This record gives sequence, structure tokens and C-alpha cells, in this order.
Amino acid sequence: MVRYEQANRAAITLTKGDITRVDTDAIVNAANAVMLGGGGVDGAIHRAAGPELVAACREVPAVEGKRCPPGEAQITPGFNLPARWVIHTVGPIYQDEETSEPVLTSAYRASLDLARERGLRTVAFPAISCGVFGYPHEDAAYVALTTCKEHGHDLEEIRFVLFSAAMYNVWAEVADDLFG
Ligand code: ADP
Repeated sequence: MVRYEQANRAAITLTKGDITRVDTDAIVNAANAVMLGGGGVDGAIHRAAGPELVAACREVPAVEGKRCPPGEAQITPGFNLPARWVIHTVGPIYQDEETSEPVLTSAYRASLDLARERGLRTVAFPAISCGVFGYPHEDAAYVALTTCKEHGHDLEEIRFVLFSAAMYNVWAEVADDLFG
């Protein structure tokens, strides 16, 4: 684990592990626009939270089938998770930097804005879009860390929970460049 303190901003921390076991006020789910579960971290969060989570997601109104368009965020309780809340956001399916970067930035930013609006203090993120959505890992780490660095006001801690040693190392190198 590594921790970067920032004046008047959330500390940014990096850990390797499983986000479903993290007890921050909210964990962020890398969901899809339909918001009714899926594979990867989304599937793991739904399994750990229990069936009430999908029921709560179903109550979020859908517009043309989408409960959460890419770059936006929604919040539900965490049910059986250690975290009280789940912020569902949707990153881009990677196309190219010009198209995808603004959507990934927006996914992080919308999640942080929602946490702040709800008075939450600590938030944990997975590596959004770095699984089946195919975002290049180093570029994604740069977007994640710069966005959280700029938008961490009124929060105590923004934690990145990276599932593999390889992903943790990518984040750690980019963080060292940005904060070290
Ligand atoms: P996306 O569709 O946004 O690419 P994925 O769930 O496929 O989302 O992958 C996002 C990242 O989450 C990947 O790096 C994947 O290894 C990671 N991941 C999968 N399960 C977990 C988990 N339980 N905790 C934290 N990260 C996870």
C-alpha cells in the first residue's frame, strides 16, 4: 500500500486486492449502462452485495434502456457489502484516446461529485475500463489519478483497489510520476 497526502484534498492511496472487501463509505462499481450486473468487478460486487443490489438498481429509471450512460454515475446502498454505498459508473469501451479519455475522466469525476453530494468521506475505485472495456492500463491510470487529484476536495481518502500485482504496479508508477 502507498499513500499520498495532499493539502486540502483527499489523500490518494493505492492497494492491491478485492474491492468487495473494502470498508470505505462507498465503493465504485465499473458497471454497464443497463446497470443490472455483468462480469468482472461488476459481477463480484453484485455477488457480494446480495440480490437486493440488483433490485435497487432496477429501481433507477432507465432512459432508452440506460440507467447510467457512460461517464455518469448512480448510487445505491451496499447491502451485504462492508461499504455502505455503491456508486455505479460506466467507463468507455476503449476506441481511441480522443474519444475515450473524456468519458473516463467524466466517470471518475461524476463518482466523486456524487460521493461529495451525499456527504461521504472515503471512496474506493477499481481500475475502471481496464478489463473487458480494453482501456490501455497506463493511460487509464493517468486519467484516474489526475482526475482524483484535481477533484478530491471535501473528501478524506480516495483509494484505488487494484486486483492484480501487474495493475498495482502500473498505478504505482504513474502515481510516483504525478505525486512522488
Ligand atoms: P470494465 O468493463 O470497466 O473494463 P472489468 O470488471 O472488466 O470492467 O475490469 C475492471 C478492472 O477491475 C480490471 O482491472 C479487473 O481485473 C478488476 N477487477 C475484477 N474484479 C475485481 C475485484 N473484485 N476487485 C477489484 N478489482 C477487480
